[in-house]
Parts: sequence; structure tokens; C-alpha cells
Amino acid sequence: MINMQTPNLMEAKKRTKIMPKTFSYVLDDKYKDLGQGKKYFIKTYGCQMNEHDSENIKAILEEMSFVETDKMEDADLILLNTCAIRENAHNKVFGMVGRIKHLKESKPNIIAGLCGCMVQEESITDEILDKYKWLDIVFGTHNISDLPKLLSSSITNKSLSLEVYSIEGDIIENIPAKRDSKYKAWVNIMYGCDKFCTYCIVPYTRGKQRSRKPEDIINEVKKLKHDGYKEVTLLGQNVNAYGKDLDINYEMSDLLKDVAETGIERVRFITSHPWDFTDEMIEVIAEYDNVMPYIHLPLQSGSDRILKLMGRRYTKDSYLNLYNKIKKMVPSAAITTDIIVGFPGETEEDFNETLDVVHKCKYDSAFTFIFSPRIGTPAAKMKDDISLKEKEDRLHRLNEIINEYAKEANDKYLNQEVFVLLEKISEKKENMLAGYTDTMKLVNVKAPFSKLGQIVKVKITSVKTWSMDGEIVE
Ligand code: SF4
Repeated sequence: MINMQTPNLMEAKKRTKIMPKTFSYVLDDKYKDLGQGKKYFIKTYGCQMNEHDSENIKAILEEMSFVETDKMEDADLILLNTCAIRENAHNKVFGMVGRIKHLKESKPNIIAGLCGCMVQEESITDEILDKYKWLDIVFGTHNISDLPKLLSSSITNKSLSLEVYSIEGDIIENIPAKRDSKYKAWVNIMYGCDKFCTYCIVPYTRGKQRSRKPEDIINEVKKLKHDGYKEVTLLGQNVNAYGKDLDINYEMSDLLKDVAETGIERVRFITSHPWDFTDEMIEVIAEYDNVMPYIHLPLQSGSDRILKLMGRRYTKDSYLNLYNKIKKMVPSAAITTDIIVGFPGETEEDFNETLDVVHKCKYDSAFTFIFSPRIGTPAAKMKDDISLKEKEDRLHRLNEIINEYAKEANDKYLNQEVFVLLEKISEKKENMLAGYTDTMKLVNVKAPFSKLGQIVKVKITSVKTWSMDGEIVE
């Protein structure tokens, strides 16, 4: 094994006041033909940050002359970009690794690799070094820009190159991206997170909060607009804390305003932590028509006792106050949420507090999960005496209510006229295009192919719980 840099939980937890350095990515000429005549396949698990990382990885590989294939069996290079948020992701990924091993038996020259959040976990790299040493490359979320070097090393030395830094992290600008869409783009505005919610592995896998410089973000958005993109989503684990680590007086509300003023047609942002959601942000959303009235506001639990155990820094009341303030200032806003059921020690009373918030907020939709312990986080060590059956029962009851409110929210759209960015061919409806409203409602629209990429006015003709159908209004 030539390259070997394994992660370390204690290092990953460290936070110092040292400002991150910004570097610019450039591909060394010596790697430009490394992928000549070779195909790559990449499978992405998890959140939008991972999706965007895969867009960067694809572009780096294509600069190295690799060509993408959507058939794993045809690929010379197979990468799994992994997620660490839930335990079952582990089984899914290692199930795929088993399939790759099988392929490698008949095609030994295949280069197989793992990257992303999961390999940032010490226990996972230990497992790889114990059972999966036949893999060729393993690299972490801080090491994407080193991919050419790692690949070259693995090919030359025919051995595992494993590089997973646990440093707080730097910012690498100018990594190219092969974007999945021609109309909407992810734009990272920050990396990492310092909130350390007790159940969450992200502060360890993605490192210290590092905000990109405003001018770098704004220039990226201007370029996307110039290239014909209609929508940008500003990405970060906790975008509302944007700027707090910069040495200038500039916050998320300032960035949102400056991005809106580029004139790009749609601006979204994800994900928000209720703790950092300022009045100024709500004012910008209310003031600018191109900042979409769609807010993902993770609740996680409605019980003050559980919120405290989760380290969430807000209470049921302060969450509801924020919710009401947003609804008052942006009445058209659609609000969605994340909820965890069965957090260690959650009683039926605690769960009822969560249901109470759901009844009050009547969310447009919600991502709901059963608590999943992540090794190394404080919550994984908490006493968990709720049976899986009970957790599943709570999840089921919660989902029934969430679905009712989602349908109720969609019902209000029937016969209304809305604007939809037509971004793809509908997966469910033949001869229809699909896209999202300002409020992130999925709409299938009867429209000619030539309308792809346009924002069109649509009359909603039928409504279901998770999608709607509509017709273009001329
Ligand atoms: S704010 Fe989000 S990413 Fe950060 S620790 Fe909490 S849950 Fe994890």
C-alpha cells in the first residue's frame, strides 16, 4: 500500500480559530490522458452535497479523459460516493461492493473505489483495511481534489490508495462540475458544520464550518446565469450560519440578497437550522420575487426534553414562533421538515409533542426517520430502551398525519395558476414534462419537448399527495 492516510475521530472533532485557506484547483498536465480509452461509473448515495460532489468528481475524471457510462458492467473505473447519515447506508454500500468484487474477478483491471462521508468514519476505514483491501482507491470528502494523484498512484502501483483527511478542511475553488441538469445548479456556499447535534455524524465527516468568499459564490452564480441556468440552490449543511466564520461582517441574508440581485430567475437554499434563521433572511425572502418561497425547516422533535438531548438549541415554542413569523411575512411559503422518531428515551408524551407541532404547522411534506445511532456521536451512547416495534408504530402514525397535511396543502393548488420550471421528461406520465413550482411542488405538464428548460405558467388540473398535473396557460 503506497498512499495511506486514515481518518481519526478525535482529529475530526477538533475545532480551532484558524481560518481555512483557499486554494485553486488545477489539473496537472501529467494526468490529462490517464483515462484515455477508459469508462467510469459513479453511484451516489445521500444528500445534495454528495450529488454535487459527484458532479465535481465526474468533471475531474472527464478532464482526465475518462468517459461516463451508466452501466457498471462496462466501466473500467467504478466509484461509490457514500453517505453516513443512516446505518442502513452501510449495508447498501457494502452490498454493492460485493457486486463489484464479483465483477473484478472476471475483469481484474477494473479500478474500484469508495469515497464520500462514510469513509470519513474511522470504523469504516478500519473495516476496509480488514476486509476490503482489494479496493483500489478510497478518498474522503476533503480529498476530492487529490483524485487524479490517487488514481495515478493506484494504477502505477496496483495497490490500494487510501487518503481520508480528518483536518478541519480548506476550501478548494475552481473544481470543475459536470452538472446533472442544464437548467438548475447546486452551488456550495459553505462546507462542514459546527453545530454538533448529538445524533449527527456530519461535523466529523465534513469538518469545520468553512464559508466560501461571497465574491466567489456570486461570480459562480453570474456564470451559471450567463450559461443559461434558470435556478440555483445554495447548498450547505446549515446555510443559515453562512458567514459566521468569515472575518467580514456578512451573513446569509446579505448573500441571499446579493445572489437575488444577480437576476437569476430562481434562488433556493438548503438546509436551514432554525437556530440561525434571522429576521433579515425572512425579509429578503419576502422582498425578492426570485428567492423562492420554499423553506426546509428541520424540526427533528417537538419535545423540549428531546430537543435538549439532541443539542438542537431551540425549543418547541421558539420553533413555532419562527414558523409563524415566516408564514406571516411570506404567506405563500411552503414549509417542509425533517423529523426523527424513537430518539433514545423518547416517551409517548415526547412523541405527542412532535405530533402537536405537526398539527400546528401542517407541513407541505416531511422526511421522517427512525433514529439511527452513528458510532462516535454522543447519541449513540445514550440509553435507548424503546423497542423497534414501538418506533415503527410511531413512524407509521406520524407518516399518516404528514400525508394528510401534504394532500391538504396540494389541494389548495387545484385550478390555480402557477409557474413551473420544466426540467425533465416526466418519469410517471407519458408524453409529459415535469418540473417544480416556486414552492417545490412536483407538476407533470402536458407540454411539447421544446418547452424543456423554460419557466411556464401552468393551470393545475388534478392533485395527488406528492404530485400534480397541469396544462400550460398561453
Ligand atoms: S446542523 Fe445539521 S449537519 Fe449540523 S450537526 Fe446538526 S443535523 Fe448535523
